[in-house]
Amino acid sequence: MPLTIRQTIAQILTQGPWSALELAGELLITRREAEEHLSHLQRSLGKGLVVAPAKCRGCGYVFTKRSRLDAPGRCPACRGQRIDGPWFEVKP
Ligand SMILES: [Zn+2]
Repeated sequence: MPLTIRQTIAQILTQGPWSALELAGELLITRREAEEHLSHLQRSLGKGLVVAPAKCRGCGYVFTKRSRLDAPGRCPACRGQRIDGPWFEVKP
């Protein structure tokens, strides 16, 4: 039986950290869909899904307090909109 898209994502994430945007590009889905799958994975894997916080490309601000999985739209420190991450990884 072929893997479901969620199983595929879980498998990809065992190889290292990926952002929702990178997953979306790899799997030809939208970023929103990738985020949806990631939040389900977080529910089923719990702490097995490791999240590295998003980071502002302009000033280096790290969104450590953010619990949502989607990418922040704007940096509170410099108002920049070039935000990288957050990144997700599955640990055994
Ligand atoms: Zn910034």
